[in-house]
Amino acid sequence: MAKPLRIAVGGFALESVSFLPGAAGIEDFEKAAYHGDAVITGLRGSQSPGGGFIDVLDAEGVAIAPLVYTDLGAGGSASDAAFEHYRGLLCDGLRREKARIDGVLLFLHGAMTTPTRTDPELEIVQAVRGIVGEAMPVFVASDLHANVSAGFCEVADALFGYHYSPHTDMDETGRRAARALVRALRGEIEPVTIIRKPNVMLPSIFTATSIPPLSDIVAEGFAWERDHPGILDISIFCGFAYADVPQVGFSVVVVADGDAALAARAADALADRIWLSRESLLHEDMVLDLKTGVDRAYAISATAPGPVVLLEHADRLNDSTHILAELMRRGGRRVAVPYLLDPRAAAIAIEAGEGATVTLAVGGWSSDRAGPKVEITGKVLYAGDKSYRGTGAMWNGYTIRLGPTALIDTGDIVISLVSRYVFAIDLDPFKQFGLDVMDFDIVLLRSKTHFRAVYEPIAKEILIVDTPDWGPADLTTLPYRNARPGLFPLDR
Ligand SMILES: [Zn+2]
Repeated sequence: MAKPLRIAVGGFALESVSFLPGAAGIEDFEKAAYHGDAVITGLRGSQSPGGGFIDVLDAEGVAIAPLVYTDLGAGGSASDAAFEHYRGLLCDGLRREKARIDGVLLFLHGAMTTPTRTDPELEIVQAVRGIVGEAMPVFVASDLHANVSAGFCEVADALFGYHYSPHTDMDETGRRAARALVRALRGEIEPVTIIRKPNVMLPSIFTATSIPPLSDIVAEGFAWERDHPGILDISIFCGFAYADVPQVGFSVVVVADGDAALAARAADALADRIWLSRESLLHEDMVLDLKTGVDRAYAISATAPGPVVLLEHADRLNDSTHILAELMRRGGRRVAVPYLLDPRAAAIAIEAGEGATVTLAVGGWSSDRAGPKVEITGKVLYAGDKSYRGTGAMWNGYTIRLGPTALIDTGDIVISLVSRYVFAIDLDPFKQFGLDVMDFDIVLLRSKTHFRAVYEPIAKEILIVDTPDWGPADLTTLPYRNARPGLFPLDR
C-alpha cells in the first residue's frame, strides 16, 4: 500500500486599502491567528478556505501538517513587520516539515499590501518555493478580490478563487484546491495554470456576481468547464481597486489537465469578454450622489412598509458619516444605522448605562474623507460586550464579536456603536438586539456586495450612494501611482 499523503496547510490574509493611513500589526493578526494543531481544530467545519482544505484532507485520509493561519478580513495595509513575521512562520514550519510532506495548500487573500510591498503574496509563494523546491506542488486558494500577478501563477502551481461575491463559497473554494492537489499527487491529473489580465478594474460595489453582465461572465466560465472536460477549474478574479498595485484589476485563471493551449483559449475568451463589457460592468447609471440618493430613499419609503437600503459603500473602516449627517438633518423617517465603528463613543454610552440618555459625537475618525463627527442624543437601549453566533447566509455559524457595544435610539434613528470591525451584512444586527428590520423605513449599510444575499429579497430598493471616502465608485478620484497604463476606467 502506498504511503499516506501528508500536506502542509497555512494561510495569511488581508484585503488592503493601500490608500488608508496606518498598518495592521502582528498583534492585530494574532487576534485571528491559529498556530500548530489549532489550525486544524480551529478551522475544521468552518466556512473558510482553510475549513474546506481540512474537510477534503480529512475525507481523503490525508495527514495534515499545520503551519499558521490568520485571516484579518479587510482593512488597510499589513505592516512590513507583520508580513515578515508570518512569512517567517510559514517558512519555519515548511523547513521543519519539508522532508515529510508531499504538497502545500495555502490561503492567501491576494490583495494584501504593505507600506513597501505591492505584491507580498508573490513574495510568500517565492519563499515557499525556495524551501520546498520546484518539484513539490504548491496550490493556493484566494479571494475573488485578489489582484493576481502573472508572476504569481508562474511560482504557484495552481490557483483557485471564490466564484461568488457575496462570498458564499469560501469553504468550497478550499475544497476545490484541496481536491485538485490530492488528485495531482495521486497522479490522476497534471494541472497547468494560465492567467490572463484584461486591462479592467472595478469598484468593489460592482463586483457582485448576481448583477449582469458580471453574472453572465461567471456563467460563461462555468460553461467552459462543463463543455471541456480537459478544463479542471476556472476562476474569474474581479480584483481589488483600492490597492494601488501594478497588477490591480481583473484576472482570469484557468487550470487545465495538461492542456495549456486549451487553458489559454478559455482564458483569452473570458478576458476578451471582460474587456468588451467594461463600460457596462462599471454601472455608472446605478450610482447616486448623496442628495439624490437620500431624496429617493425618502420618496420610496413613504409608499409602503419595509426598508430601503442606502449603501454608503465608499466607507472602508465603518466610520463614514456622510449619509448619517444628511439623515439627521432631514429627520422624519425610522432609520437603522447598524455597526458604526466607534469604540470611544460606545465606551461613553456603556459608562452611562442602559436607560440613560446620552449625547455623543460619533464616527468620522479614520481620515478627513470619512465625514464629520455627527452629534446624536438618544436613549441607550443596550450597553455591553456583544458576541453571537452568526445566522446569515455568509456568516452562519461564525462567532461574531462586536466588542463593547451600545445601541442608541434618537427617536428617528437607531444606531449601534461597536468596537470591532464588523460589517452589517445580514439580519443579525437586528435579531441579536431584539429589533425587526421590517420596522425601519431606511437601513444604512456599508457593505459592498455581501449584504445582497440577505437584503436583495427584503429591500424595497437598494440605493448606491457615492461619498468621498476611500472606496468610491468613481475610481478616477483616487491618487493611483502604480496603476499600469491603459487600465480602464482610469484610461478610457
Ligand atoms: Zn473579497
